[in-house]
Formats: sequence, structure tokens, C-alpha cells
Amino acid sequence: MKKEKIIIITGASSGIGFQTAAKLAKQGHVVYGAARRIGKMESLKVFGVKPLELDVTSEYSIDKALSVVLHAEGRIDVLINNAGYGSLGAIEDVTIDEARRQFDLNLFGIAMLTKKVLPHMRFQKSGTIINISSMAGRFSSCFGGWYHATKYALEAFSDSLRMEVKPFGIHVSIIEPGGIKTPWGQIAANHLDDSSKGGAYEVQARKTAEMLRKLYDGRILSEPKLIARTICKAVNSSHPKARYLIGLGAKPLVFLHT
Ligand code: NDP
Repeated sequence: MKKEKIIIITGASSGIGFQTAAKLAKQGHVVYGAARRIGKMESLKVFGVKPLELDVTSEYSIDKALSVVLHAEGRIDVLINNAGYGSLGAIEDVTIDEARRQFDLNLFGIAMLTKKVLPHMRFQKSGTIINISSMAGRFSSCFGGWYHATKYALEAFSDSLRMEVKPFGIHVSIIEPGGIKTPWGQIAANHLDDSSKGGAYEVQARKTAEMLRKLYDGRILSEPKLIARTICKAVNSSHPKARYLIGLGAKPLVFLHT
């Protein structure tokens, strides 16, 4: 019987985070599923997941959420930084504000939450931090420049962090999914259409958005359950790997290059 862990997973209201929160709770862990849309996590309660209201980009919201968990449990064993999003568009077209929004969530939000969890893990002399990056953090494609930039940055951030916190008994893992069947594909395709409308990149961008929709509507992508399985493996391991690259079968980046 594995020891139950106190876990916070962000982005639990949808996709990969939703499936992972349910699976971890079914395995007997104490799971706080965090997201802004708390109502979307109601159905996770049947598995024992505790919905936690959290906006990863707000320091006030992070402090409030962490105090709830620490007051109830007194410790945090695992932090899964899963919340993330990417909007697509030509680098020339995407506004700097939109690019910042991606960095605010995919890098600075993760950094802010992680920085606040670390003192507790150091005090405990143990902990696991799992950052959900992407295959997009290893390879680039056209129209994904800002999203790739956030994930490349998250990879570097995570690698440095791993070296820094190892002496305190804290593990840092990176998960790099390929294309996964979640609402993200549709959202990204819509962003691509919007950002390119009437511009120099419109024709190529529209073609790419159509392909993206086909890809995400079709059957070639991996299911979120596949990633959930890998995240659970990292959570339950006493020595999780530095990197888990998964879901390569869909080859979404090759698709975007055409
Ligand atoms: P979804 O779009 O299905 O879910 C995104 C989650 O992030 C939602 O639960 C959303 O909750 C949460 N979120 C967004 N903004 C915030 C915020 N400010 N504060 C807290 N939570 C927030 O995404 P996926 O499941 O597809 O993606 C999960 C992770 O996996 C992301 O990091 C993504 O980059 C990565 N990934 C996804 C791939 C894919 O093909 N789907 C491939 C590779 C990596 P709410 O809106 O309720 O706050």
C-alpha cells in the first residue's frame, strides 16, 4: 500500500488536469484540484477531489489557496503545475499583451506558485514538483512562437530548479505531452484565425487552423488519460525521472509545418 500524498494540481477543471486529479484521488491520495472555474470541478468530488479556487496569475489567489491546503493538511507533498494555455498566430500579428498573457500563466504563474510552495517542501525535507511542459518545449513550429517560447522557458526554469532543490530532497520532473485531445486545439485554432484576419499571414494561418481543427477533432491524438497515467507514475515514484516525453504518435508539429 503506497503512502497517501497531499497533492495540488492546477488546471483541474478541464482536460489533462481533470483526468489526472480523478486518477490520483482514486489511488487514495488527498488531491486539491485547482482552477478558476470551481463549478467545473463539482463532478470530481465523487472521486474525493477537493476543488480549490485558484488563479495562478494572482498572488492574492495563490496565498488564499495555499492557506486553505496548509490549514487543513499541514503539508504539501506534490505540486503539479498543469494549468497552461497557448494562443497561436504569426509573431508579427500577435500583440505583446497576448504574448505576455501566455508567459503570465505558463511561466510567471508557475514560478509564483512554486516559489510559495518551496519553503514548505524544504521544511519537510521532501516534495515533488511536476511541471507540464509540452513537446512544444523541445521543438518549434510556425505560428506557435510565443507558446513555444513559454514552454522552452519552463523547461529551462525546471532544469535549474531541479539542480537547486535536489539537496533538500525535492524532485522536479517535466512532462512533455504531444498532441492531446482536450479543448485546447479548438481554442488555439480560433485564436489563429482571429489573430491573422486581414493580415499578410491570413491564408497560411487559416490553412493551419483548419488542419489543427481536423487534428483535434479526429482520432489520431492521444487521450488525456495517457498523460494522467504518466503524471501518476511520477507522483508515485520515489525517484521520478527528470523528463517524460509522451504522446509522440500524433506528430502534431509536423502537421503544423505543412
Ligand atoms: P485545457 O484547456 O483543457 O485546460 C486548461 C486548464 O488550465 C483549465 O483547467 C483552466 O482552468 C486552467 N487555467 C487556465 N488559466 C488559469 C489560471 N489563470 N489559473 C488557474 N488555472 C488556469 O488544457 P490541457 O488539458 O490541454 O492542457 C494542460 C497542460 O498541458 C497545459 O500546460 C498545456 O500547455 C499542456 N499541453 C497540452 C497539450 C494538448 O495538446 N492539449 C499538448 C502538450 C502540452 P480555469 O479556466 O477553470 O481556470
